[in-house]
Amino acid sequence: MLSELLKDFLPVDVSRMRARDFLGKQNEIENTKLAAIGKGSGWKDVESCPLCGSGERETEFRKHDVELVGCLDCRLRYGARIPSNLDDVYKSPEYVSFSKEDSDEHYSYRRDRFGRERVAILEKYCGDLTDLKILDIGCGNGYFLSAAMERCKHCFGTESSGRLRKFATQKTGLSVFGEDLENLPERDFDIITLFDVIEHVPAPARFMETVIELLKAGGHILMFTPNFDSFSIRVMEAHSSIVDPTEHVVLFTRPSLKYLADALRLETIYYETQGLDIQNILSMSRGGDADSGKFLIRWANELQAMINRSSCGDYSRIMFRKA
Ligand SMILES: [Zn+2]
Repeated sequence: MLSELLKDFLPVDVSRMRARDFLGKQNEIENTKLAAIGKGSGWKDVESCPLCGSGERETEFRKHDVELVGCLDCRLRYGARIPSNLDDVYKSPEYVSFSKEDSDEHYSYRRDRFGRERVAILEKYCGDLTDLKILDIGCGNGYFLSAAMERCKHCFGTESSGRLRKFATQKTGLSVFGEDLENLPERDFDIITLFDVIEHVPAPARFMETVIELLKAGGHILMFTPNFDSFSIRVMEAHSSIVDPTEHVVLFTRPSLKYLADALRLETIYYETQGLDIQNILSMSRGGDADSGKFLIRWANELQAMINRSSCGDYSRIMFRKA
């Protein structure tokens, strides 16, 4: 079984994905974001579950003085406080300068490793993409669009960061719009993709209703989002970079994704989890030592392949179909 898993396994070169000294900089980045929120509009309380509306909840962790709570009804995790204005974080100049997303190397590696993998998932469930119309919401530097263009003639993106929008437009030559989905110049998409987007959205069900409006009947949504119920979160708890109250205002689990699908009358046609960031675990977990670190790194691919298959990976991948 393990050899079968490894045959399908695509390793990730973490060193090529992140800003230099990413892990060492994690605290610095988070402090910068906290300062930007403090200087800006501050925080506001979230009294009830942003997905199902229930007030029944329990505390999971506390990070930067913000409680991360779990809804006892739909199992969504959410910040009991969120930034009053999320632009305080995303538009702060310090935050922008930490990212190396607008670099050629970052773009090419992500296109080849992740963009093409995502296109292959779409082809598996949606068939030939050539004449379909695809929208990538929150397209970042455009690496997924660049891979999608290799197989599809009608690709579009949206991106809220002006700097990344410009980079993506220059790299792909495609139309990349701003974040205002209600006034998008294009609609009737066959496929809408949301990679690392929904966890940033304070009202996820309402946001998804807008997304669904842009989709044709029978169209597909492919979404990737952190999986709260993962081995990494179990090990790292609040030390995980996924637990970030300044940006990740909601964190989904399999049951809360099912709640979302049912509430929006979407059919789920694919679900799996992927990811086990060994380096992240080693640098952030308490009590790691050099020998266990060597062991984990030596067997990283095997462990990752097994965890992927067990639905305990770091990221959920889910595809919905609109009725
Ligand atoms: Zn809930």
